[in-house]
Amino acid sequence: MDSAEFRRHGYALVEWIADYLADAERYPVLPRVEPGDVRRALPAEAPEQGELFETIIADFDRVLVPALTHWNHPGFFGYFAITASAPGVLAEFLAAALNQQAMLWRTSPAATELEEVSLGWLRSLMGLPDAFEGVIYDTASISTLHALAAAREAAVPGVRELGLAGRPDVGALRVYCSEHAHSSVDKAVILLGLGHHALRKIPADDQFRMQATALGEAIKADRAAGILPLAVVATVGTTSTTSIDPVRETADICRREGLWLHVDAAYAGVTAMVPEYRSRFDGWEEADSIVVNPHKWLFTPFDLSAFYCRRMDVVRQAFSLVPDYLATAEGARGVRNLMDTGIQLGRRFRSLKLWMVLRHFGAEGIRAAIVEHIRLAQLFGRWIDEDSRFERMAPTPFSVVCFRASPEPGLTDAELDVFNERLLDAVNATGEVFLSHTRLNGAFVLRLAIGHLRTTEQHVGRAWELLKEHLDGARVRGARVR
Ligand code: PLP
Repeated sequence: MDSAEFRRHGYALVEWIADYLADAERYPVLPRVEPGDVRRALPAEAPEQGELFETIIADFDRVLVPALTHWNHPGFFGYFAITASAPGVLAEFLAAALNQQAMLWRTSPAATELEEVSLGWLRSLMGLPDAFEGVIYDTASISTLHALAAAREAAVPGVRELGLAGRPDVGALRVYCSEHAHSSVDKAVILLGLGHHALRKIPADDQFRMQATALGEAIKADRAAGILPLAVVATVGTTSTTSIDPVRETADICRREGLWLHVDAAYAGVTAMVPEYRSRFDGWEEADSIVVNPHKWLFTPFDLSAFYCRRMDVVRQAFSLVPDYLATAEGARGVRNLMDTGIQLGRRFRSLKLWMVLRHFGAEGIRAAIVEHIRLAQLFGRWIDEDSRFERMAPTPFSVVCFRASPEPGLTDAELDVFNERLLDAVNATGEVFLSHTRLNGAFVLRLAIGHLRTTEQHVGRAWELLKEHLDGARVRGARVR
């Protein structure tokens, strides 16, 4: 593709993207496709001859666009709602063109040092001490994996050289988290060779927070049984309800017991930028490591996970391995080579989008957007509370509301589950909004998550109207559960 052609297609794509970002509402949030539709619409083999870019784009419009789930739609209220903001999109465009591979300082001084600068800015905005060194990974799952790998490195002598298998000197190991922690913790212990049984899930209280007393007791019982506790994962902003584990108490236990504390603040961490919300993070500054995902609630296009660690030397001890062909003179002089702080060798220029997003919005702009999202969630929560046909199923500390319809007294739990599942399907089928679900204490629960920059009170109001309309509609059509 020569430069003239690149310009022509590039300008056309910028037009397409600008329209898309301005008005994703022209599309249904969830696509109306069946499994296999996309695969069947495309040839089974790659073309032998190159094709015109016009033809490729025509197929993008015809086949792929109708099968997109529109995370950039302001009616997207599922999982954790996110935003690929315009400055972030432009940064990704540039990053692709520059194709930096920041494994070594030498292979991209700019990407290496910008990562340090932008993570330093974010750390300071969230009020974390400078002792936390940062590194960018793709996702929180990978950040948590690195945290627990470092915990294993710190606690099990010689694990890097000898591994775990066939060692009579290493008994059973244990990692602790709340029953509401994200499944990435499970995956990490599995991958680290600890075995899934090494993860002990601590019961939560009636507000879905890990019970610190139960944690302390579990550690004590394990030690008495000859099991070696390694680490605790506490969550600020759990996946289902955004509940907040007691981080301060957990940190005290970890210090007393000599355990690695990893704080999963993947979703909620950015709210520490807002002074009124800072107290929710009390004690996280005592952690050994923390994960915060700018791709969740910091308007940064997927993917970018910020991993902060007080003991990055342990991460390096676990992961640094420099073959001859990657040894550099600057390395010997002490520059940071990002390949040393993780499993990946090659690394994308992810810091560019974080830097551009932070500069474009400024701390004030980001705080204002976060505060507005929380306001909208609290408003929706009040509508739920004030309508006797609905009930709130969990507290709303951030921007996610957990609720269900309870259209008449006397329905069984099973009937309520079926009713709510139908209601969710009906509302999502409108294409105007998308809400997701979870299960709490066995009950099917709807979740409305706010996090898109273009989501306004009008969108949240529309979601509320649709829920009520379909509740009534279901009654009139006699489609109720009984
Ligand atoms: N931690 C929490 C609290 C989450 O809610 C999620 C996903 O939503 C994750 C970790 C995993 O995030 P990622 O997709 O970045 O791996």
